[in-house]
Amino acid sequence: MASVLNQPFFQDEDAAYAKLESFVWPNGAVCPHCGCTDRMRKMNGTATRPGLYKCYACRKQSRVTIGTVFESSHVKLHVWLQAVYLICSSKKGISSNQLARTLGVTVKTGWFMSHRIREAMASSTGLPPMGGEGQVVEIDETFIGQKTDMSKQRGYAHKHAVLTLVERGGTSRSFHVDGTKASDLLPIIKANVDPKTHIMTDEAGQYSSVLDQKFAAYATKHDGLLLLMPPPPDEDLQCNELLVQDTSLKKHFAGHDFVQHGKGEYVRGEVHSNTVEGLYSVFKRGTKGCTSTAPRSTCTATWRSSTSVAGTQSSWAWTTRSGLRRHCAGLWASG
Ligand SMILES: [Zn+2]
Repeated sequence: MASVLNQPFFQDEDAAYAKLESFVWPNGAVCPHCGCTDRMRKMNGTATRPGLYKCYACRKQSRVTIGTVFESSHVKLHVWLQAVYLICSSKKGISSNQLARTLGVTVKTGWFMSHRIREAMASSTGLPPMGGEGQVVEIDETFIGQKTDMSKQRGYAHKHAVLTLVERGGTSRSFHVDGTKASDLLPIIKANVDPKTHIMTDEAGQYSSVLDQKFAAYATKHDGLLLLMPPPPDEDLQCNELLVQDTSLKKHFAGHDFVQHGKGEYVRGEVHSNTVEGLYSVFKRGTKGCTSTAPRSTCTATWRSSTSVAGTQSSWAWTTRSGLRRHCAGLWASG
């Protein structure tokens, strides 16, 4: 069996453009400048760059890469396609350094390519909300890495927080969030989940409020939510010892159930958050696959960006998991 990377579009620039055109222009070339479809002509001169078209309506030249993540790059398109294949087929991730070594490009170029490709995996804005009537969306957060301005300590305060929404049997979305307060999470949840959806979470305070009248007034003041909230100063109760019951997300969605991990409860019939936990399993293995350990970057902006794209990639991989093998082994290998 020949190597997948022996496919012509991974080796030859003209074949790479033909392959990309088959994806982007399935019904024929489209001018990115004027939208014309019937007056695009391919330029075939010996000195002409591969994939160049001229529109005889607006007289401008263009290539299929305009408007894609491959635009304005000096890297050959067939090398880009190799990078796409390597990133998409590496379930546990591939680091920019590894990509650079494999493709024979500089580390800087490898980083640039991997970030552009991962950005392409991001959900575009304006997507319809997840879930709906009869649907279940699981919500959870995880913590990775280390903030540059904080030293290691107990708990998660020094780590970066990622919020993930997973629709059972459907898609997922991940968000790098500033914190895990209800005020950080609820706007994202409300913007991305249909109100008719049934929500499932763990017992984290931001999703549930305490069934204690003493706490109800406090919860109401905070939009019905409590977040990792210590008891009011005059209380000596511990949150994890209280009987907690949702009165918060239920206000915004059709229903909300949760399991209490603190009491060793992980599944109660249909009630669990194991789907989103499974996504995090892939996410964290992907992080380790790229970096061995989640690094403490010297550049906050870089690390924040890296955290975002890593979350994006894991969500993309999860959302497309059923098609991933077909995508890699079939679509690409079929030529
Ligand atoms: Zn045109």
